[in-house]
Amino acid sequence: MVLLIHTFAKRISLSLSANWSGLFINVPVSPNKRELYQQKRKLSNIGLLGNISVGYLMFQCWTPQRIGIGSSGTEHFHCYSGDRVLDKQIKNWIDWDRNPRTKAQIINAIKKEDWSTLEACLCNRIAFGTAGLRAAMRAGFDAMNDLVVIQTAQGLCAYLKKQYPDESTWSEQGIVIGYDARHNSKRFAKLSSVVFLNNNFRVYLFTRYVATPFVPFTILRLGCLAGIMVTASHNPKQDNGYKVYWTNGAQIIPPHDTGISQSILDNLEPEAGSWDESVLCDNELLRKPYRKMVAAYYDSLKMELTCPLRELNKKCPLEFTYTAMHGVGYPYIKLAFSTIDLKPVIPVINQVKPDPEFPTTPMPNPEEGKTSLELAIKRATATKSTIILANDPDADRLAVAEVVKRRYKLFNGNELGALLGWWALENYKMREANPDVSNCVMIASTVSSKILKSMAKVEGFTFHETLTGFKWIGNKTIEERDAGKNVLFGFEEAIGYMMTPNVIDKDGISAAAHVATMACYLQYEKCMKLQDKLREIYETYGFHTNVVSYLICHDQKLIKTIFDRLRTFDNGQKNTYPKSILNGEYEIENVRDLTTGYDSSTPDKKATLPVSESTQMITFTFKNGMVVTLRTSGTEPKIKYYAEICGEPENKNWDELTATLKRMVEAIVNEFYEPEKNGLTRKQEE
Ligand SMILES: [Mg+2]
Repeated sequence: MVLLIHTFAKRISLSLSANWSGLFINVPVSPNKRELYQQKRKLSNIGLLGNISVGYLMFQCWTPQRIGIGSSGTEHFHCYSGDRVLDKQIKNWIDWDRNPRTKAQIINAIKKEDWSTLEACLCNRIAFGTAGLRAAMRAGFDAMNDLVVIQTAQGLCAYLKKQYPDESTWSEQGIVIGYDARHNSKRFAKLSSVVFLNNNFRVYLFTRYVATPFVPFTILRLGCLAGIMVTASHNPKQDNGYKVYWTNGAQIIPPHDTGISQSILDNLEPEAGSWDESVLCDNELLRKPYRKMVAAYYDSLKMELTCPLRELNKKCPLEFTYTAMHGVGYPYIKLAFSTIDLKPVIPVINQVKPDPEFPTTPMPNPEEGKTSLELAIKRATATKSTIILANDPDADRLAVAEVVKRRYKLFNGNELGALLGWWALENYKMREANPDVSNCVMIASTVSSKILKSMAKVEGFTFHETLTGFKWIGNKTIEERDAGKNVLFGFEEAIGYMMTPNVIDKDGISAAAHVATMACYLQYEKCMKLQDKLREIYETYGFHTNVVSYLICHDQKLIKTIFDRLRTFDNGQKNTYPKSILNGEYEIENVRDLTTGYDSSTPDKKATLPVSESTQMITFTFKNGMVVTLRTSGTEPKIKYYAEICGEPENKNWDELTATLKRMVEAIVNEFYEPEKNGLTRKQEE
């Protein structure tokens, strides 16, 4: 080591000093950053660790740390990025990852000395939140891969142990684990199972891909402590995700998200057996719930519909075209239709088989509108189907289109929410011998249409509004159910529908079964199409017209600046928001800011719904009754807006209401978001 320093010292003028921790060399450095970095790396490569002091690099002699490649430990090389934290993270990855593909990705980056890429993927960590995990699949602590899944499973397992210290509950109640048909989903589910089995948990692992709703259904049926669903829903093919459900069958809400997140950080190093898939063979704690749970699910579905309705289904002449968007839905939709005596759906041949490549639709999201349903519309036109049903790839959401004059009208999430809300009440009244509507509840998220609220006023049931995200609708459902209420329906405008508290989440399978039955019922009993019924709903409860759209913005700082401008609108003063749009033509009556907790309509100016500082969300209520919510998306680079005008039942001037809404929304987007000034991309409207 001394020799090395001596050799090096010949080329660079330096001063020497020493203390108890070693020998220090102060080297004058170039002011050029790139040269500085190269000097630093050269010194690192001969076993010197660099630290920047003012105008100098200070190097401490150390013993070169060798990082092994491969499980045999025979191959070694030096890795000194010049950054102590990055070196440590590289070492952790090489030591911990046993997946040859992702390990090779890191090693290749080391060989190329691609430190910036390594720093980005190893010194940042994927965030675990209420939605679990969702990210691209590749190497790195910021991505979805075997190692991150093992770390997450270990963290979740440790957290569950802490929450349920009685060990007998681990092996008796256990955990249910499901997966969709994406690349690696099955593997991630298996690795998670290994972690829980090694910790003496009973594991109910589905033996084939399932629709997401089967996991929350199984939690309630079998009384599991928790559930995991490996899915990235409608994201592009390179992504995957990890959705976590709690003991109550709903997606986790705070404080479990931060608790689990911390527990993951406390359990990063894979335990000895975490990679050993052999524990999945002949393990007493491992159960296969598929057959029993699928049978139980369809028994429940059958119970939701009366015999006369199923008789109508038998006679129903309507044809339904169905697409699974290359996801898991088709076998489950087939079973649903046969269970409730509907004739089989007409499949969109190229899209009904699971295919993780999503070859015909790179954005497999039926929420995106008609562009994503192109093949389904072609198939439906060719087969003269009345209705198109489309699930997203994990089949928890549902889009519906209906033909009118040979063109297909795609219902938006709010319109379908209105139809299914009406149907849920109608179906309840048919099903129950002594219906008690006053004890019934319907729930929608705050950015969804208030049509259920208008319906509740006339029909006498209770309506509740929750924060955005089905986790909140789910937890409100449990709260109401436990208070003895009958929760009939819950929905969010993002085409998510819960038809029964048997599944405390959105469920695209049961929603499709109910839409089809409703369509048959309307056709047979009332000679109506779904669109006729929607019109009748508006005539009875008032016209509700919505605009839901978004702008694209990848810059989180810019998003914050845009929202901060709105909350300091009057010369930068706190809690001063815009008072009107279009030069005072439409005045704002109330403002609710769920990022800061401010609400101008309450006596203490505090919002009653929970506040989240990490997401942007402001609602403006105008004096003419128009309500608009501006918010950021948790999983996508979008700033969304949701606007609605609710007309009174006696107001029949629907065209005028629609025109007013459009004009106001345009003004709000231009004046509040300033898309041109801020360089925001508008959604391509159809
Ligand atoms: Mg989904």
